[in-house]
Order: sequence, then C-alpha cells, then structure tokens
Amino acid sequence: MKQDMEKVTWRETWQVFLRSVRLLERYTPGLFLSMAVNAVVSAVTPYAAVIFSARIIDELAGARRADVLWRWVIAAVAVTGALALLQHLAMRWKTAREHTYYYNYNIIYKDKLLGMDYADLEKQETADLLSQIRQNENWAGLGLINIPHFFDALVRGAVGIAGAVVLCAGLFLTPVPAVTGTLGLLDGPVGLLALGLAIAVPTVLASWLQGKVGDVLTSEAMSDEANLGNRIFNAFTSLNAGGETISRALDIRMYGQQALARHYMAGSHTFSADGPYAKLMAGKAGLMRAAAVALSAVTTGAVYLYVCLKAWAGAFGVGTATQYIGAVTALTGGTVALLKELMDLRSTTRYLRRTFQFLDIPNAMYQGSLTTEKRSDRQYDVEFRDVSFRYPGASDWALRHVSVKFKVGKRLAVVGENGSGKTTFIKLLCRLYDPQEGQILLNGIDIRKYDYRDYMDIFSVVFQDFQLMSQPLGANVAGSADYDRERVARALTDAGFGERLASLPEGLDTQLYRDYDGEGVQISGGEAQKIAIARALYKDAPFIVLDEPTAALDPMAEAEIYAQFNEISGDKTAIYISHRLSSCRFCDEILVFDHGRIVQHGDHDGLLSQEGGKYHQLWHAQAQYYDE
Ligand code: ADP
Repeated sequence: MKQDMEKVTWRETWQVFLRSVRLLERYTPGLFLSMAVNAVVSAVTPYAAVIFSARIIDELAGARRADVLWRWVIAAVAVTGALALLQHLAMRWKTAREHTYYYNYNIIYKDKLLGMDYADLEKQETADLLSQIRQNENWAGLGLINIPHFFDALVRGAVGIAGAVVLCAGLFLTPVPAVTGTLGLLDGPVGLLALGLAIAVPTVLASWLQGKVGDVLTSEAMSDEANLGNRIFNAFTSLNAGGETISRALDIRMYGQQALARHYMAGSHTFSADGPYAKLMAGKAGLMRAAAVALSAVTTGAVYLYVCLKAWAGAFGVGTATQYIGAVTALTGGTVALLKELMDLRSTTRYLRRTFQFLDIPNAMYQGSLTTEKRSDRQYDVEFRDVSFRYPGASDWALRHVSVKFKVGKRLAVVGENGSGKTTFIKLLCRLYDPQEGQILLNGIDIRKYDYRDYMDIFSVVFQDFQLMSQPLGANVAGSADYDRERVARALTDAGFGERLASLPEGLDTQLYRDYDGEGVQISGGEAQKIAIARALYKDAPFIVLDEPTAALDPMAEAEIYAQFNEISGDKTAIYISHRLSSCRFCDEILVFDHGRIVQHGDHDGLLSQEGGKYHQLWHAQAQYYDE
C-alpha cells in the first residue's frame, strides 16, 4: 500500500471529495440536498436570536419605545418560530435519507463485487483490499462512509462563517465618534492589525494543532493497530453467536473454550486503559487538543476587549455590542471547526484512494457488445481452438493446447482424474476466465466479442459446489420472486424432486433453510442437488452442464442422476463432467483429460478398445465399483 503514503494535495482532496459525493448521491438520491438544507437552516438559526436580542437590548438601554419593542418581540418570536419549524422539517427529511443511506451504502460494494470479473473476485488481493477498506470504515469512519459527515460540516461551517461575517461587518464599518480621542485608534490600521493578529494567529495555530491530532489518530500505524484489535474483538465476541458461527458452538461448549477465548482477548490491549489510544489521548494528542481549545480563549478575550472598547467610546449600543461579540466568536469558532474538518478530510483522502482503487477495478469481461441471437433452432456452435489457461498467479498450466468442437444437441462427457482440468474447461466455456492463449468461438466469433450477460444466458451449469439461497423453494429454482409456478413444478419433478415437493405443505413457497425463518426446511445434500438441477432445467438454456455431483453421492447414485439427466435434457447440448467413467458411458462423445490436455476422444466402446490409453487405464482402475 505504498501509494497510501504519498502526500495528499488539496486538489486531490477536492476531486476525490466531489467524486465521492456524486457516487453516494447516485445510490441515495436527495441525501446531499437534504443535508445541505438542514445544514443551512441550522447554521442560520442561532443568528436570528443574536440579531433580535441585540435590537431589543439596544431599545431597552436607549429610547425604550414600547411600540418598537413590541414590534421586535413579535418579529423575534415569528422568525425564530418559523426557523425552528423549518429546522425540524429539514431534520426529518435528512434523517429519513440517512436511514436509507447505510443500506444503500453497502450496495455500492455488493454491486461492485457482483459485477466484477470472476478472476478478480477470486484474487486474495481483492478480498484483502475490501477487508481493509471496511475495517478502516468500521473503526473510525475513515473512508467513503464518512463523506456525508464532511459535507454536512463543510456546508454548516461555510454558511456559519458567511453569516457571522455579515453580522460583524458593522463592527468595522461603524466609526468611533471623533470626540473620544485616543480610542479613535481602534478604527485605524494599528487597532485593526492588532485585532486581526489576535484572531488569526490563535485560529491558524489551533487548526494546525487539530490537524496534527487527526493525523496521529488516523495514521497508518494506528489504523493497522485498531484493525487488528477490532478483528480480535469481533472474532472472540462472536464465538458463541448463532448464524455462521453456530457450527463452532458445540465444540466451544464441549471443551470449555470460552475461557481460552477470554484469555487471548485479554492479551489484545488495543482499546485498554494502557493501550496505544489511551496513551495518545493522555499524552501528546490530548495535550495538543487542549492547547487548541485554550488558544481559542485568547481570541475570545481579544474580541471582547475590542468590541467593549468601541462600545465604550460610543460607536454603538450595548445590544449591538453583544451581537458583534456573538458574531466574531462564531466567526473564529466556525473557522477553527471548518479548518479542522478540511484537515480531517485530507487525512481521509488517503483511505479513499483505497476505496476507489477497489471500485475502479476494471471489468474486462463486460466490454463485448455483440448479442447472441436467440435462435429457435438452438444451433449454437462452440469451438475451443488451441486454448491454454493458467490461473492468475499460478505457474502451471491448468489447460494446455485444448482444441475441441461441440456438436449441437449431442451429449458430451468430460472425464479424467481429479485436477486434470475438467472444471477449468467449463469455467472457460462460461467465460468466468479468459484464456491466455488460443480462442473460444461461438458460431465462429470469439466469445469475448459478445455481451457478457447475453453470452451467459446460453448456459445452465450445475456446478460441483452449487449454492442454494435461504429463500422459498420456487424462487430458488426460478432465480426470481415472480415465476411460472407450473414450469417450476415441472422442472422439480423432472429433476426427481416431485415426491418430496408433494410432501411439503407449503409446496413451492416452502422456505429453504432456517437462516431467516424458523419454519424453514433443512434439506439433504441429495435433495439440494435435485433442486439445483431443476434450476438449470428451468433456465432452459441451449447448453446444459452438469459438473460432477458432490462426492457425498456414491457411484450408483451419480450414474442414476446422469442417466435421468440425459433423458430430461431433450434437444439441448449437454456436457457431463465426472471422474467416474461409468456415469458418462452413454455419451456420444467422451473427452479424456489428463494434466490439462485432452489426451483421447471418442465414444465409450472405441476408447475402451484402445488398450494402454488413459481411458482404458482409468476404466479398469475404477471397474471394482461397478463390475458386479
Ligand atoms: P478437475 O475439475 O479435473 O478436478 P480443475 O479444473 O478443478 O480439475 O483443476 C485443474 C488444475 O487447476 C488443478 O491443478 C488445480 O489445482 C488448479 N486449480 C483449480 N482451480 C484453481 C484456482 N482457483 N486457482 C489456482 N489453481 C486452480
């Protein structure tokens, strides 16, 4: 993460900030507008009280005209009341937006992960990067998640400062009457310079100190320390929780591992009283913060002195003096706060670099634009032309010089020992990866030229490690909440799940698994397999691929599934993968994989007759399972 350490310029800070605002606004429309309105109203509101009380005090200390006083009091009540109402409405609007913000925020990462090239998704670096981003956000809001806070603070600060400038302008524009002698100096360059210095020096110094504290607390070392502490804390505190960790709960109870967990957790001192944070706040960072606050007292003192001297000299009344004191104090306080937020925003930009590094991972897969015409004759011709592929970061070829042409509507088997490249072959066919050498063609055109989603539509694959969702049965099969119930029921029946479906009181609406619904049904591995096959059938794609069913199935059960599948796949081009040769003997063509190469191809009888060939060798090695 070397680039994180590079200095952040103000230009970069601003660009990244605007980009973040645009991105977040896209996911939560209206968020920033509601924040801006709320910030403006709440920044302006205190000034109404300042203005009206100044007028009322001036009148009380001066002419004391009852009608004028009444007018000011009524105006004060009306304006502050209206502002309070407006503030409340703006707050409601903003709060409603904020509630959806956290939900929408997480969708940004989900969208990216779902849209990312599979090869990138699988990389450890991608997982590490995302985990760092989320951890930095969790421990101190360092990153994109905190952009609304900065937006709010910046708008509030800018409006507050502008309001204060308007309110205190009169302080400099109203001269001291000539009769008061030396106090006239207050309006001259010396007086103004002294006041300017008394305001500017402590303000700049305080902001600088606040920025330093921010830098220390958000430093790389501190965020690493906090991330580690958080991970340990989360790991140990969620040990006994349900959900994903329920599987561990039994062992923990059986062997009394809570005590062990407590022991290790006590060893992590990140957030303890003598930990690095506590030490920083008790020492250097705490002192700098205290100094920053103390400095603002110097400014306040100087402002009081200046304003009181001018009022004493007769430049304005008591009420106006309170207005100026309020305004100048708000001006300096607002400036310190705004500068601190700007410094913090700059520190955060370092972390935003990582966020955008993640969000900018390119989607190479999505650059094709051709559509795969929807052919009613299902004449989709696929060819592997001298394809070689290596997994990202691997040194060995998983596939080497693979050439094969699929005959439309035929049954093709892919056999070979574990690790020979069968699944990789299917992953390339489905374009989860692109080959480094050679080409895969669909109807004579490189598959990279097709629109990716369109291309994916022509395949139904039951992967070896398929996953069902904790959703109703019918929705699982259809991949959608709205579906054709009749077709789903037929797909389930074709896949051999018919009897079980009839026994479920809620039928297609039965919730699978218990993650979200205590009434959900827990299904067996074999049943899950059938549902996964039904899902592939329901998709009704021209190509149907069955990667070897789970190792939990015995050879006979596997052969049964394949035979059944053969019957129901109709006019589709079907591809079967297995390391058990008997399962695929009915196929029109069998490809024999060995160490990433196709070493033989032909039908079962032809291949078996080639003595000394790989197929012959594998067949006899496996014959013991199904000879009798
Ligand atoms: P099969 O399906 O025949 O059991 P695979 O296609 O899964 O074989 O694997 C082929 C080769 O690629 C093996 O050497 C395996 O270790 C390697 N391999 C598979 N998946 C990955 C991966 N995601 N990353 C790196 N290597 C992999």
